[in-house]
Amino acid sequence: MLGLMQQRPLLISSLLDYAATWHCRREIVSRGADGAIHRSTYAEIATRSRRVANMLETLGIAPGGRVATLAWNGHRHLELYYGVTGAGRVLHTVNPRLFHDQLVYIMDHAEDAAVFFDPVFAPLVEHLAPHLPKVRAWIALCGADAMPEAAVSPLLCYETLLADAAPDFAWPELDENAASTLCYTSGTTGNPKGVLYSHRSTVLHAFAACATDGFAFSARDSILVVVPLFHANAWSIPFSAAMCGAKMVLPGPKLDPESIYTLLRDEGCTKAGGIPTIWLMFLAWAEANRGRIDLAALKLRHVFAGGTAPPRAMIEKFRDMMGVFLLHAWGMTETSPIVTIGAPLARHADAAPDQIVDMQVKQGRQVFGAEVKLVDPLGAALPHDGKTVGELKVRGNWVVSGYFKGEGGNVLDADGWFSTGDAATIDPDGYVQLTDRLKDIVKSGGEWISSIEIENLAVSHPDVFEAAVIAAEHPKWQERPLLIVQLKPGAEPDKQSILDFLAGRIAKWWLPDDVVFVDSLPHTATGKLLKTELRKRYAGYLLGKAAGA
Ligand code: AMP
Repeated sequence: MLGLMQQRPLLISSLLDYAATWHCRREIVSRGADGAIHRSTYAEIATRSRRVANMLETLGIAPGGRVATLAWNGHRHLELYYGVTGAGRVLHTVNPRLFHDQLVYIMDHAEDAAVFFDPVFAPLVEHLAPHLPKVRAWIALCGADAMPEAAVSPLLCYETLLADAAPDFAWPELDENAASTLCYTSGTTGNPKGVLYSHRSTVLHAFAACATDGFAFSARDSILVVVPLFHANAWSIPFSAAMCGAKMVLPGPKLDPESIYTLLRDEGCTKAGGIPTIWLMFLAWAEANRGRIDLAALKLRHVFAGGTAPPRAMIEKFRDMMGVFLLHAWGMTETSPIVTIGAPLARHADAAPDQIVDMQVKQGRQVFGAEVKLVDPLGAALPHDGKTVGELKVRGNWVVSGYFKGEGGNVLDADGWFSTGDAATIDPDGYVQLTDRLKDIVKSGGEWISSIEIENLAVSHPDVFEAAVIAAEHPKWQERPLLIVQLKPGAEPDKQSILDFLAGRIAKWWLPDDVVFVDSLPHTATGKLLKTELRKRYAGYLLGKAAGA
């Protein structure tokens, strides 16, 4: 017997309608490239998003057509988030930090029909345009007075088009499974692949983000969105903040610590989300400037971080300097991204501060709606004992079922699970801890060594700015860990002090065979260490040494 309840499609436009009706005066604050603060509200964003929808009709972008953005976090970008998806077109948020060839590849693959770009990216679009013949319009996200010079055709002005577009637009009642946004994976190996989210997956994912043991968003929150709008749906914040009427603060391109501090202070931010690199720089600056800034005046209580693992020292500094709880999350572009979040359990109420940090360094527990499991190489389930390492698999309503245009073939196993490529443990409380990317594990004489664990320890050495561990080929053990280090400015290289520092903290056989000092470590466009590049450079490093010895 079926239930007798209504079934309404889960649509992104309903999030905006809700916020514009019931939280109409709640602010959307954004800071431009010039530092100027722009204040808007959900009601205004809704009206302008409807104008965007009419603008797309005028530009001749067909339903389902892809509309690209090359833009920082700002109110216009947010209007596109809603205007494009609400009108049944697909928003393709492009990471402007990708290499030229990757940009051309993904924008061509996506068949982007229009590109909306921040004026600072005018030189970039000029380079891209000759390679992207399918783009029918290049729209600069600014007013007529700020139009950049760019040899692209046609070059159009967002504010002019918006002023010419009618403010009324009835959001179509789309199929909730219709595509809404498109993000490409960072593609550390092979070509980037497109993950095509749906309205349904996006709305369900937003519920999970809002949940109390998720990011716990509420109408009383003011959220600083440091994570770029072009990175995995900005962790759902543009949608989940609207779902509960939270204020959003969009920082634009300036993400230096002082700019972040000013926004936190002036906009009364209670929560902030961004990758650990941003927070590392922020905390170092806050510590150095303690005398002249008033950290106690900030309303910030929660910072959420993911993408890479926040080091223990960062979690402690947030706690001790600012009374801020770092909420650690894990996910992938393929998982929308939220899968696990590190909220405390009831039993942590009486736990010692150190034990709480022990929990926070882990990647968190599965939220409802996305399932995780730990398996061995044959796919058999492994115990949740906090020790056994296996591959993490995921499935759920906001996990990819296949890449755009079938790239990569069938990516699910027979039971619908997606292989993350991440090696992890799960403890008896359900907290997942990543030990490595499967391909980054160091397999020394058949035993596994976690590169991430050594890296995390190495960065707590006072002279180390950043560290990477790779599997270097070894004549006896097949692979041995090689530690590659970028020192802090002014630090003198001293291999032995770093090895001594590690020695008491990890098993002896985990100690790297050597330390290499470099001026800088290579990163992907989303800020992750580019280990493929390091392996290319240093895979034979220990062999060379053995031969020379
Ligand atoms: P992306 O799709 O670019 O967001 O990359 C997803 C990958 O980033 C995951 O498979 C992990 O390897 C890594 N990752 C994401 N969150 C974390 C985290 N909290 N700690 C460590 N690695 C993470």
